[in-house]
Amino acid sequence: MSRTMQGVFFLEPGKLEQREVAIPEPGAGEVVIKVESATTCGTDLKGFLRGHRLFRPPMPFGHEYSGVIVAVGAGVTRFKEGDAVTGANSAPCNHCYYCKRGSPQLCIHLEDAFNFGSYAEYFRITAPIVAQNLHIKPDNVPFEHASFVEPLACAVMCIVNANIRLGDTVAIIGPGAQGLMQIQLAKAAGAARVIVVGRAAGRLERAKLLGADITFSTNDGDAIAFVKEQTGGYGADVVIEAAGNAETWSQALLMARKGGTVVQFSGLAGGTQVSFDATHLHYGEITMKGVFHLTPRTVELAVQALANGTVDVAPMLDGKIPLSQVEDGLMRMKRSEAIKLAVVPGMA
Ligand SMILES: [Zn+2]
Ligand SMILES: [Zn+2]
Repeated sequence: MSRTMQGVFFLEPGKLEQREVAIPEPGAGEVVIKVESATTCGTDLKGFLRGHRLFRPPMPFGHEYSGVIVAVGAGVTRFKEGDAVTGANSAPCNHCYYCKRGSPQLCIHLEDAFNFGSYAEYFRITAPIVAQNLHIKPDNVPFEHASFVEPLACAVMCIVNANIRLGDTVAIIGPGAQGLMQIQLAKAAGAARVIVVGRAAGRLERAKLLGADITFSTNDGDAIAFVKEQTGGYGADVVIEAAGNAETWSQALLMARKGGTVVQFSGLAGGTQVSFDATHLHYGEITMKGVFHLTPRTVELAVQALANGTVDVAPMLDGKIPLSQVEDGLMRMKRSEAIKLAVVPGMA
């Protein structure tokens, strides 16, 4: 076997490079996988275009993955060579202030725990991830779908924190990959009706395909008025903002009924200020919450949701590409021609 491999590196905003580098060796507690699928992600696109505070160039690029274990480090007992696996690319420390208070997604060591480099033939999985957030790939889930586990775990995190009750009407703003997974999870959590607000007709079509009962394009008018009209004038029980701009953060509040819950799910650029209707927040007793990232439990639930069919990711996958086309793939996402692509290093 050759001791080198091809991997894609992030050099600076707007610049990637495919390099020949040494195949990683597993340290204690680590495993190395042969990557079968590394899905492209909105975070990669944003980071590629503008840089990201966690991207320290030259940095091995890509963070979603599935593959087959080719080498196992000392002390690893849960996995062996030949196991097909998938997982998240971070893990909590379990001993900091937040971990001890049951919020591992807020772990103060999270930034150091991120593991990048899945756009490569081989990928080393660090020990805390192997111990907590690596899972055997279910047999009935193809590799290209299994690499959705990390973003799906974030969508699960959103839904388990959204206070959805049986029979609820849930409004989701933003039919991107997250919104499309959240539709299916909201239904599984008991929502009777899911209303999806977006713009592009193609995205709204996919939302329908994945279980949205009603869709509304903001090209056709006022989304707040539409959601109210659909709910007898009250507003939705639960509103999820997954579009990622200050204006929709503000609108989400006004789409919720009195006593309802608003989840501000999409991250905005550092320092962004958002204004809200304070009257509706206070007199309407709205619960508004931020939900971020994932936990080992939501990673576990994401693997289950793929295995038992609760979430179908096939309609979000717009094809497979080789390593040499990562940049091209990200540009297709930018032009809204693709939601996600599976980078398959073994492809010619
Ligand atoms: Zn991702
Ligand atoms: Zn911690």
